[in-house]
Amino acid sequence: MIPLRRTLSNVVQPKCLERTYDTDSLHSTGVVIIFHNEAWSVLLRTVHSILDNTPSRLLSDVILVDDASTLPDLGRPLDDYVLLLDKVKVVRMSARVGLMVSRNKGCLAVTGRVCVFLDSHCEVAQMWLEPLLERIRADDRILAVPATDYINSSSFQYTVIPGDQAMRGGMDLDLYFNWIPQSQTDNRRRGDMLNPMWSPTHLGCCFAVSKATFLHLGMYDPDLRIWGCENIELSFKIWMCGGRIEVVPCSHVAHLFRYMAPWSWGTDDPDLLSKNCLRVAEVWMDEYKVLYHDRIFNRQKELDFGDVSKRKDLRKSLGCRSFHWYVETVYPELYIPTGGSASGQIRNVRIKKLCVQSPVHRTDYGKRVGVAQCSKQALIQHFTLTKEQTIRRDDGCLDYDGKQWLVVTRCTSAGTWMYTEDNNIVHTATGRCLGLTSGQMSVVVVRCDHSAWTKWLWDRRTITLDHHNTD
Ligand code: UDP
Ligand code: MN
Repeated sequence: MIPLRRTLSNVVQPKCLERTYDTDSLHSTGVVIIFHNEAWSVLLRTVHSILDNTPSRLLSDVILVDDASTLPDLGRPLDDYVLLLDKVKVVRMSARVGLMVSRNKGCLAVTGRVCVFLDSHCEVAQMWLEPLLERIRADDRILAVPATDYINSSSFQYTVIPGDQAMRGGMDLDLYFNWIPQSQTDNRRRGDMLNPMWSPTHLGCCFAVSKATFLHLGMYDPDLRIWGCENIELSFKIWMCGGRIEVVPCSHVAHLFRYMAPWSWGTDDPDLLSKNCLRVAEVWMDEYKVLYHDRIFNRQKELDFGDVSKRKDLRKSLGCRSFHWYVETVYPELYIPTGGSASGQIRNVRIKKLCVQSPVHRTDYGKRVGVAQCSKQALIQHFTLTKEQTIRRDDGCLDYDGKQWLVVTRCTSAGTWMYTEDNNIVHTATGRCLGLTSGQMSVVVVRCDHSAWTKWLWDRRTITLDHHNTD
């Protein structure tokens, strides 16, 4: 019931609207929107918000790339509808190719100098494009990201994240995007909190990049399939090959965040995403790729991720910097879990099919940790006993709550643990053991009774980086 053209007010901070942009000097831009079975209203609301909020001089085209949708209204009815819309074109893929190849195709079809990639369920705000284009005019190698607002997937309510509170893009070592806080160093550099901030990665939903730069960097690896890790590939190569990712607080684009994709993967390969990320790790992460291998329980030899030699050649011909440089210079906040003493699944000895499992994001802090059927596809079963003696994955640690439960906490305040010779996981401060109770799917912290219920199998291995061997 929400109209295809809705007007949103109070999205952009007044201080941003006071800024002026010399539109005559900004590049013309094509917006690429790829989709597979997107809902009609959501797709067209995206298109109309662009047409309504973009100065005509700046908009060269809106390219809708249909990645072999099967919903009937996205066929002929869509063609008929866009006939009435200036600059909007539909490009059809004859078979499902996934988001990477669809976007490559879309950007190639753009006649302007900049490609803006938007998911098919976005809404852009007033003055969204100018601040992004200003950055690309300043330096063609900058990938410019808007402040990303939220559209609620059940109510379609629009939630504004004020520009000066925008977050930066980071990642977990499973190579999945996450939001990270602003950095003090970067805030000093940029002075005004409405000026662009430097960001290690970008969210895939919404960003602008010069077409020449995107092509120069070899676009997306065309052998990445369906969905996932392409934003990490692009983030690495933007930074490592001489560019920069900037989050531009005065540009607002909202993305519909949903819990489940409305599309199917079109394949029954449960390892597709891991294979995509393996390609990216293999080409871009040098000696650091073992961190990703560890995350997927060292299945890199068993998963056939295809030939990456062309992508390695590309990297070489572009003369890009090392991943070590990226970590040290661009993303020093990234936690590198080397030097620990155990890593992988934590498997109960009494019920061997059960492993400790929990998401550990900031939003999970305080939650109880459970167990689930052990599965090498469940990356949330991966934990490392770090050199600091914490049980950790990325920015989440597991700790005793003082009563009887194991909970997720932030790592700066997390308690320490020992993994003993006889397979107890002992909370250092209290001497209590990690345990499993029959009939419970929660992990408890109890008096050590030396039964199999309080014993665990955890691979005793240390992750090391070989900085000399970067091949
Ligand atoms: N998409 C596509 N082909 C695919 C998978 C996804 O064209 O095989 C499109 C999808 O319609 C959307 C974009 O890629 O416009 C990103 O997917 P999605 O929004 O589901 O990812 P999320 O934003 O949830 O990460
Ligand atoms: Mn999306």
